[in-house]
Amino acid sequence: MAGKKIGLRPTDALLIVDLQLDFFSGGKLAVPLAEEILPIVNGLVDEAQRSGTQIVVSRDWHPPDHISFVAQGGEWPQHCVRGTKGAELHPDLRLPPGALFVSKAKRPEREQYSDFDGTSLAEELRRRAIDRIFVVGLAEDFCVKESAIDAARLGFETHVLRAATRPVTLEGGERARAQMRAAGVRVIERVSPPYDVDHFSRT
Ligand SMILES: [Zn+2]
Repeated sequence: MAGKKIGLRPTDALLIVDLQLDFFSGGKLAVPLAEEILPIVNGLVDEAQRSGTQIVVSRDWHPPDHISFVAQGGEWPQHCVRGTKGAELHPDLRLPPGALFVSKAKRPEREQYSDFDGTSLAEELRRRAIDRIFVVGLAEDFCVKESAIDAARLGFETHVLRAATRPVTLEGGERARAQMRAAGVRVIERVSPPYDVDHFSRT
C-alpha cells in the first residue's frame, strides 16, 4: 500500500455528493452504514478549508412526481423531494462559507445521477481553474460513480475516496469501482485517521 502522497491544493475541488437525510438511516432511501463517512467527510472539509480547496456540495432535488419514483414507474421510493426534511443536508456535515451548491434531477421527466448532468458545474470549476476533483458522499454505486465518471470524461483528474463513500449494495460498489477505474477515475482505497490528505495512499 506504499504510495504517493496526495495533498489538497487550491486548484482542487472536494465534491460532496448528496449527504441528505433521506440517504441516512431513518430516511426514505437509506444507504447502509452511511453515518460512518460523516466524520471522514468533515475531516476532508477541514483539510480543504486549510488548503484553499473549493468545496462543492450536491443535492438530489426532486419534484414530487419524479420519474425515478416507483409511482412514476421508476426504481426508487420517493426520496429527496425538494423542500422536504429528507432533502435537507445531514446536520452533522460541517460546511464552511464559500461552498458551491449543485442541485440535480430537478425536472420530473429526467433522471440525473451525475452532478455534471444538466448543471453548470463543469464551467464553474473551470472558471476557478480547478483541474482535480476528489469525490465523496452517497451513493457510491449511483451518484458518486456517475459524477466521477463524468468528471474524468470532462478532463478533470478525478479521485474517489472509498473511505468517504458507501454503496447501496456491496455488489453495486464492486461494479462501480471497476467501472470508475475503467473510465480513468482513481479509486483511493484507504484513508487513515486523522484524515489529513497526507495520510491518503494511492493504490
Ligand atoms: Zn434521486
